[in-house]
Amino acid sequence: MNRYLIISFFILISICGQKTEVIAQKMNYKQLRHQMVKEQIAARGIKEKAVIKAMQRVERHLFVPSQFQHLAYSDSPLPIGFGQTISQPYIVGIMTQLLDINSKSKVLEIGTGSGYQAAILGEICKEVYSIEIVEGLALKAKSTIEALSYDNLELKWGDGYMGWEEHAPFDAIIVTCSPSKIPQPLINQLGEGGTLVIPIGEKNVKSLVLLKKIDGDLVRKDVIPVRFVPMIDEKGREY
Ligand code: SAH
Repeated sequence: MNRYLIISFFILISICGQKTEVIAQKMNYKQLRHQMVKEQIAARGIKEKAVIKAMQRVERHLFVPSQFQHLAYSDSPLPIGFGQTISQPYIVGIMTQLLDINSKSKVLEIGTGSGYQAAILGEICKEVYSIEIVEGLALKAKSTIEALSYDNLELKWGDGYMGWEEHAPFDAIIVTCSPSKIPQPLINQLGEGGTLVIPIGEKNVKSLVLLKKIDGDLVRKDVIPVRFVPMIDEKGREY
């Protein structure tokens, strides 16, 4: 009897220990996330309150494979499988700020990847639609987002070059993969006064471009040079 009591005692101690470790890890991630926002986002000029708040809230470590979770708040992109990456936090911050969105906005994202950028948009906007061309990534992002219970986010597997006509016009469109030219369907689906943020260019020379639709025309501003994975079609050919 005594032996069983002693064994139960040790099992209990071990369970409590594991729980404490999980809580400590969670707190550690929260601390790291706030540090990331302070040093990589706010310190580099991203001041928009809604963006700061969203990046403090969304747990980036839940969007990366377990072997990279300890690097989730570092200043870099990370692999998410299928040869793709989750963007560097600063790039997510600057693109989100450029979108000029608020709690009334309807936004389209091309290139769901891990779903992290979509979750950031979900924190800020009314409705978010996001398209991913790699089926495995689309499925994984769906389960990550479902587990976080966002009810304003709709994801689909498909070719984002075509946009998402059914939900157009959009107040803002963000493209997180890079075509050589702006896809015409995205221009058509952008509402009047809307903003399109997209990395454009040939293989190694890409520019993050901000476009505003004013009286039906696009007004263009090149923001910074960037590196992005190419936008591809269903056969893997680059646009
Ligand atoms: N926004 C993502 C990172 C995107 S990486 C995140 O927060 O994790 C770019 C993604 O664009 C990749 O997942 C890639 O598969 C996808 N992609 C490339 N071409 C595409 C296309 N035509 N339509 C939709 N997604 C595309």
